[in-house]
Amino acid sequence: MPELPEVETVRRSLIGKIVGQRILSLRVADFPGVLADDRVEDVLARIEGRVVRGVRRRAKYLIIDLDDDTAIVVHLRMTGRLSAVTHEEPPLRFEHLAIEFANGLDLRFSDQRKFGRVIHVDGDELGLLEQRLGREPLEREFTAAWLEERLRRRPGKIKAVLLDQGLIGGLGNIYVDESLFRAGIHPERRANTLTPEEVRRLHRAIRVVLRAAIDGRGTTFSSFEDAEGNRGGYGGRLLVYGRGDKGPCPRCGTQLVRTVVGGRGTSFCPRCQPVGG
Ligand SMILES: [Zn+2]
Repeated sequence: MPELPEVETVRRSLIGKIVGQRILSLRVADFPGVLADDRVEDVLARIEGRVVRGVRRRAKYLIIDLDDDTAIVVHLRMTGRLSAVTHEEPPLRFEHLAIEFANGLDLRFSDQRKFGRVIHVDGDELGLLEQRLGREPLEREFTAAWLEERLRRRPGKIKAVLLDQGLIGGLGNIYVDESLFRAGIHPERRANTLTPEEVRRLHRAIRVVLRAAIDGRGTTFSSFEDAEGNRGGYGGRLLVYGRGDKGPCPRCGTQLVRTVVGGRGTSFCPRCQPVGG
């Protein structure tokens, strides 16, 4: 599932292709649910002729800002994918939606599992969405002191707390497992029992892991690609994610463990991430 680095990678690959471009048309194939509750003709009437002012990312959402202060919000969820291709390109596999631009490009949304959404929202709706999302972990406001203060109120397991999009926006299963490993923290530790030193290590690990993953253009696990069809290069640099029960810890050689925390498959090293902290 695409997380912050993957969505950021898609964003960067889209900027040069659609920013400043005028929307000519919108096509929806056999799955109108991709627009959530909206009807194709209504959305088309609202976005036709609008110009893309910018492409932003907020948590795991891609936000295409239009010149009338509305926006197209894309949530890739499990298998959603955005591709910028020419109008002439035949429909992609699992393609559900295409936005046609005046420069001859289409922005195509394809999604095998159909959990992803492409939603046109006005400024108020966008504000509500952004309000319920937590802090951006790569922004200046995400400090170790802030994280420590927040974790102190949370008795839940640290992994589940880090996955809460209302606390930190954009972390998912991959980068939480990687961050906890680098910080040497067991995924089932109670968040409010972390010492200030552990929180500082965790804070640093989250930022290091996310920055490195963005530099590597994300992780390709099942279907992730950027808008130009490039696969992510970070997968080979994952230390524990997806490796539980398969191999030794890259740091100490102990067999990694696979378990389930908060309903999510979780890999960790029982030696580098001891239960007692
Ligand atoms: Zn280890």
